This record gives sequence, structure tokens and C-alpha cells, in this order.
Amino acid sequence: MQSIPKSLNCILLVKDKSIQVQCDNIEAVNTISNILTTCLGPRSMQKMILTRIGTIQITNDGNAILRELDITHPAAKQIVELARTQDNEVGDGTTTVILLAAKLLEEMGMLLRDKVHPVHICKILREALNESLSYLEEVSYPFQGTEDEKIGIVRHSVANKLCTMLKVDIAFLAYKAANIAKNCDIKTFVKIEKISGADFSGCEVMDGVIVNKSLIHSEMRREIRDPRVIVLDTPIEYKKGESKTSYELKNQAEYTRALEIEEEQVQEIVNHILALNPDIVITEKGICDSALSIFQKKNVTALRRFKKTEALRIAAVTGATIVSRAEDLEEKHVGKDCRLFRVTRFGNEEYVNFVECVNPKACSVVLRGPSRDILNEFERNFEDAIKVARNLRMSDRLCAGGGATEMNLCKFLLRKGACTENMQNSMLRKRVYDGIANALRMIPLTLAKNSGCDDPLGLIAELESTSDVYMGIDGVNGKVVDVRNLVMEPIAVKRQALKSAFEAVALLLRVDGVIQSKKK
Ligand code: ADP
Ligand code: MG
Repeated sequence: MQSIPKSLNCILLVKDKSIQVQCDNIEAVNTISNILTTCLGPRSMQKMILTRIGTIQITNDGNAILRELDITHPAAKQIVELARTQDNEVGDGTTTVILLAAKLLEEMGMLLRDKVHPVHICKILREALNESLSYLEEVSYPFQGTEDEKIGIVRHSVANKLCTMLKVDIAFLAYKAANIAKNCDIKTFVKIEKISGADFSGCEVMDGVIVNKSLIHSEMRREIRDPRVIVLDTPIEYKKGESKTSYELKNQAEYTRALEIEEEQVQEIVNHILALNPDIVITEKGICDSALSIFQKKNVTALRRFKKTEALRIAAVTGATIVSRAEDLEEKHVGKDCRLFRVTRFGNEEYVNFVECVNPKACSVVLRGPSRDILNEFERNFEDAIKVARNLRMSDRLCAGGGATEMNLCKFLLRKGACTENMQNSMLRKRVYDGIANALRMIPLTLAKNSGCDDPLGLIAELESTSDVYMGIDGVNGKVVDVRNLVMEPIAVKRQALKSAFEAVALLLRVDGVIQSKKK
């Protein structure tokens, strides 16, 4: 460590030991990937995580595992970030991306040790990435499958997850939900309700939404057929002053008048709403007692304090438009697409249901199971599956799974690296390409190892010697098979994994110092 002037309030690691910094980074990243190696593929092992808040998570999802690790090493943190990006962007391939990046970094580290400047490596990496991405398009194939085939692909993506082991068809639920939310933001328009205490058969995608809320007034209607629904994001109360307001009231009459004015204001708002003859009034804000009592007398079910996202979903299923001022309400804002409103009870909680909707654009997914931990894992499985289903909608190309695509890419890069005509630096180029090929080979190798077969290296040699691009590893039986009927994956998952892994490696290779600000 360098001696540093006092005015520089930080610790510097010196430049001439940059190889140390890089080796240290590679080691850290390797540690992370070692944790995840056994979590790849259909025969993956589970990790039991004791979380910071004292709960237990049982999962084999790369992102979920890494999220819980308390990591301080900056390079390792970068890698964890990769899994998160992969999860956010495509929802699958989180373990793959980490394993790939770690192995790639290790391979490139060997070049660094031979005193190759990282800038040269990064340049070749970028070329290789572009070539790989175009090759990926080549080996993928268009897909216009039937609904069942599409669900089958989603099923592959959760094949090794807890839900499949417990025989819950999360893939079917996810596919259905993704179809309802269509082009909308899935996070907002598909809501998962985890209700523990019943068996798995209760899992379903509703044709509408449910919200955990009870009626405020016991005499309001609990079940309404073909309701007219109004959704507001304004309070149905008298308008309070913005800041501290003081009134000076000189006598009882004035006080009574002040109260009357409040009532009149509320009455006016309510009149605007009642003019449209609603059956249900929903607001994101409050409803005062006097308004509630008027609604109740008029046989209107009023519900208050919904979250923004809940109101959005209700508007999406009922066809209502969220309105900000009661005065602006018009007939076109009233939602009429929901056939049934009712209040039901799941366990100890009451839920309002807007179901039997015509053409719903949002939905609630009810997951049921014996315990919170299992439901939480189901939720993670579901989130992965729905993203895969969405990817399928958005891109209609598929890649072979089971390590077939990685092996094809590996062979392609070996060929490309060996072709050295007119290339400057051809030796270095070959070494980088070979390194990438090695890293890619690691995916089928890990699948072979995890399948429990006796001779994974033999299996990989067999795979490498075939010329059929659809041959891959059967991760369950540990054989080389045509994977088209076994596991196909949307191209987006592979594309994102390659891009993220290459970019993270290029970034980490260029780090030659770590600077830590001193804590005050
Ligand atoms: P990730 O978090 O990267 O999605 P997974 O544990 O889901 O990790 O494993 C995905 C990998 O396993 C992919 O490469 C996929 O092709 C492969 N895979 C999934 N099912 C099978 C199977 N039945 N046989 C062989 N490989 C499979
Ligand atoms: Mg997966």
C-alpha cells in the first residue's frame, strides 16, 4: 500500500501491483460462481439460505441466492449485479450468466498474467461478442408454435424449480397471466397474492383482480352483478387547508355554519359521483364518514385508500378511467366490463374481487401453499416463468438449450480464432477466442456434471465431435441427445447472458486499482 498524503482522504492501491488487484478480483468472482455451479440445470441442488431477517429461503435461483449474500468485495458485487440485470431484463439465465462471466474472467486473467494489456483483450472481446451475437441469430430458429408448445417452453425454464417438484403448473399460470397483461408492464398489471393455508390446487389466475380489503360499512352490498365502477384518485372529504389554517369563530352560529359548509362541500362531491349512478366507488384517498353514510343510503359500495397500482389494475379490468376531480366525471369514465363484484374471505383476510371481466388487461394470480417459505419460492418461480412467457411473446426465435447453443458458439469461436489471415495480433486473437470457447464449454460441462453422470468429460467430447447443431446434454439422464424436444429457450435469454457476461468481464479487466474512501 502506498503512503499517501494526509490531504487525500482515501487509501490507494498502487498501480504497479495492478495484477494483484486483478487476480484478487478474479478470485472473488470465482468464489461466487463456485457457490452456484451445482445450481445449474434440471438436476440442480437447492440452497437453504438463512436470511438476514431470520427467515429461511430454499431456492436454486441464481439471483435469489446472490441477493442474500452479504458481499463487500467490489468485484464480486459487480458480478451479483449481473444476475440482477439478467433477472430484470429476461427473468431467466441468472445462474448461467454468473458461471459464464466467472470462467471468462478466469481465462482472460491468464492472459493478464502473461502481461497482455487489458485494452487489447477488451477490443478482441468486443469483436468476439459481436460475432457471437450474429452467430446466435444464425443457429436460432423461428418459432410459431401452438399454445401448448409455448407453455412447454416456459415449463422448461422452471423445470428445476420447487414448483415443478411439488407438481404445481406455474408455467401454465405464468403463460396465462402474461397473455392477459399483453404489452403492459407486468410488475404493475399482474399481482401475485400469496395465501397460505390451503393445498396447491387453489393456485389460479383470476379473470380479474382481487385486493386485500374489507368493506368499511357492514351494510354495503357484498355482491353485485354487472357493477358500474367509478375509480377516483381524490379524497371524498371536505377540502382541508394546505398548511396551518386558523379560523376565528365568534359564536355558536358561526361554528354551526362552518360545519354546514363542510357538509355541503362533501354533498356536492358526492352528488357529482351519484349523478352517474355507480354501484361501486373506489378512491385512492380517504372517504369521510358523512360521505360514506350517503353512499350507503344510496346503495353504493364505497371503498377507500387503495394503492395507486391497485387502482390501476381495477381500472384495467373494469374499463374505468381514473379521474382526479369528481366534477370532471362523465359516463365514459365509468367501468362496466366487470361482470361480478364480491367480497370473499381467504383464510383470515377479506378480499374484494372484480372478476368475470370482459377482456381484462390485468389479473391477480392466487398462489396457495402450506407455508410462507414455499409460497415465497413459488412467487420467485412465477416471476421467472412470466418473464420467459413475455420473452416468447416479444421474440419469436428459439435457441437449443441443454448446452447445445453454447457448444455451437464454442466451436464457432475456435474456428474463427484459428482463421488468422490478414489479422494483426493473430496469436493474441486466437488465445482470446480459445479462452471464450473454454468459458462457453463450461456450461454443457456443468450440466453434464450436475446430471450425475459418471464421465462428464467423455460426454462433452462426444458433444464436441458431433456436427448436429441441435445436439445437447440431457440434463436428467446424462446423455447426448437432440434437445429440440427436450429444452428450447427464447433467444433473448442467451443474448442477454452473453452481452452481460462479456461486458462485465471487459469492465473488470480494466480495473487496476481499488480505492476506498475512509469512513468518517
Ligand atoms: P438459470 O438460472 O441460468 O436459468 P437453470 O438452473 O434454469 O439456470 O438452468 C438453465 C440451463 O439448464 C440452460 O442452459 C438450459 O438449457 C438447461 N436445461 C434446462 N432443462 C434442461 C434439461 N432437461 N436438459 C438439459 N439441460 C437443461
Ligand atoms: Mg432457468
